[in-house]
Amino acid sequence: MGAAFCTGCGRPPAACGGCARPSDPWRYCPDCGRWLAVQVTPTGWVGRCRGCGAEHHGSHQPPAGGAPVTG
Ligand SMILES: [Zn+2]
Ligand SMILES: [Zn+2]
Repeated sequence: MGAAFCTGCGRPPAACGGCARPSDPWRYCPDCGRWLAVQVTPTGWVGRCRGCGAEHHGSHQPPAGGAPVTG
């Protein structure tokens, strides 16, 4: 909540209704609606807005818990 623009298509929520999925990296800045330069990392992704300069982070893994790693 609080996003002024959809992170999936960059349109206002009233015009989109929410097409972005929580598990997908953001494609557009929720603050200004401009395109995000998303860079995928081993643990998640980092999106830097070229419009307002904001930097957004995301993770592919759940925030807490998770399966034990063996090997
Ligand atoms: Zn959308
Ligand atoms: Zn922005």
